[in-house]
Amino acid sequence: QAPAIIDSSQMTQEDFDKRKNLGYVEKTPMEDNRCENCALYLQPEGENKKYGGCQLLRGPIAPDGYCPYWAAKQG
Ligand code: SF4
Repeated sequence: QAPAIIDSSQMTQEDFDKRKNLGYVEKTPMEDNRCENCALYLQPEGENKKYGGCQLLRGPIAPDGYCPYWAAKQG
């Protein structure tokens, strides 16, 4: 499935189950590991958008979020 930043209203039950099963949380337990600085994070589209996306999970992703698939950016 192509990475896309979608509204939660466009998410299927499968999308919700997947983010839960992968261990996504809206608030990271680790200060240094946040969706915002994860290699898989997709920056929010549009100036006033708070939520971005993720290459693994469909739906809005909080910059302060986290999941165990967090990956350091290269370089
Ligand atoms: Fe956030 Fe996990 Fe996606 Fe990285 S892989 S952006 S930590 S949800």
